[in-house]
Amino acid sequence: MSRIVVIGAGLGGLAASALLARAGHDVTLLERAATVGGKSRRLDVDGERIDSGPSLVTFPGVWDELCARLGADPGEIELERLPEVGRYYYDGEEVILPVPPEHPWYPAWQRFSDEHAPLADDVTALLVADPLDRRSLPALRRLLAVYGPRLSTRAYLDSLTWMPDGLREIIAIHTLNAGVPPERTPALYASMPAVMAASGVWVPRGGVYEIPLALERMADAAGVDIRTDETVTRIERGRVTTASGSFAADIVVSALDADRVDGLLGRRRRAPRALSCSAVAIYGALRQPLPERIAAHSVILPTKPDALHRSLAAGDEPADTMAFVNLYRAGQVYPNDRSTLAVLLTAPADGSGYSLEHPFVRREIERISRTMGLDELLTDSMTDAAVLDPRYFGTFGERHGALYGAARPLWMSGPFHQPAHHDLRTPWLWRVGASVHPGGGIPAVLGGAMMVVEKLLKRHPA
Ligand SMILES: Cc1cc2nc3c(=O)[nH]c(=O)nc-3n(C[C@H](O)[C@H](O)[C@H](O)COP(=O)(O)OP(=O)(O)OC[C@H]3O[C@@H](n4cnc5c(N)ncnc54)[C@H](O)[C@@H]3O)c2cc1C
Repeated sequence: MSRIVVIGAGLGGLAASALLARAGHDVTLLERAATVGGKSRRLDVDGERIDSGPSLVTFPGVWDELCARLGADPGEIELERLPEVGRYYYDGEEVILPVPPEHPWYPAWQRFSDEHAPLADDVTALLVADPLDRRSLPALRRLLAVYGPRLSTRAYLDSLTWMPDGLREIIAIHTLNAGVPPERTPALYASMPAVMAASGVWVPRGGVYEIPLALERMADAAGVDIRTDETVTRIERGRVTTASGSFAADIVVSALDADRVDGLLGRRRRAPRALSCSAVAIYGALRQPLPERIAAHSVILPTKPDALHRSLAAGDEPADTMAFVNLYRAGQVYPNDRSTLAVLLTAPADGSGYSLEHPFVRREIERISRTMGLDELLTDSMTDAAVLDPRYFGTFGERHGALYGAARPLWMSGPFHQPAHHDLRTPWLWRVGASVHPGGGIPAVLGGAMMVVEKLLKRHPA
């Protein structure tokens, strides 16, 4: 049995600590905040519950696999499927995914979906197993057969000349869910909307914060010593120091942003060439419900997606952006009496604070409200609002607020990702979390924790 200290109780750290303790190690989990969850947090806005950070669960098979490895009941959270992937607004078009039969894009969507939706099991398999592992080969082979020599999402989608341009842009914009443009993501990301349409987009009953709560219970049941309000100030071989003391450690698992860890290791932190995106997230309680036609999940695309990608890469304020509008009607998802709303604006990782009066925010709220055909500005229909911005995300994640750490070149977006899960320079240190797992969302972070723990246990069985 080894003494393992896991740093950071976001989804990655919670999952890794539970898996390691279940395997028989002596695990302590250190978290600087008063509560677990990291980017997944529970807010009270004007008396209504709103969970901030992640809002949608995709690839539910990853959750089932994690629960199986923990000997836990997947029913610890009750996932509810949204009726559609979302309603998309782009260039005067309004369309839901999957595209309905009466829409002119239906034949193209169907052709795309017929080829990509059957990849769901292969993608799920790759989310929970190392792509360099022999067991991953059949799934990799099937995927490569679809994309051929087109390596990036952009190159692959551009090769589908029969696809209407609007549909192509709607599919391509999904790569921003991983914080980077379609030029920097592998072709595999093109499949995501079709896979999501087939395997569903889900929300846990009660809100997404039910996930960290369930993981905390699982970690606790496995014997993890969970310590909140413990800020780690230094990591070295054999020891993790916090503001209040120190913890002996044979092995350290960091679930922090990779750049932040370098600082705690006393390494020089070089400014990354490019960062993944950040967000300005506005959460509000509504005075009145929005019209029935407004979907649970709407995506408003920028006027010029390429211009947005350039602005995000340069860290500049974009002319307009990709926005999510998530609507929770009274009694649906949350046990609230009133409707609540989350408006998520993709933003550059500039470390800045944004308020509702910021010109970028005002401009986008006006554009989104107009595009969705609303009589009133979305923020004017809120009785109270909370705003989370790059400055906030930078307080505990990447210092400029990049949600998925540095943006890397295409060839580093898979198994050759740097920094790696584990390297020879610090053989006692392992890394999990959004900044070292391409994709960065809930399935990638939970799947990544399973992958890293499996490798760690091979070297250090309990
Ligand atoms: C606005 C927004 C919307 C999103 N939407 C979705 C979505 O719909 N679907 C989806 O799948 N994903 C979504 N994501 C992504 C998802 O939320 C994250 O990828 C995931 O929560 C990251 O988990 P993590 O464990 O890697 O990191 P984090 O949640 O950042 O956890 C890191 C933890 O480390 C702690 N910490 C930091 N420094 C120290 C220190 N020195 N000592 C101790 N502890 C420390 C932090 O307090 C934090 O708890 C969204 C993210 C955001 C911000």
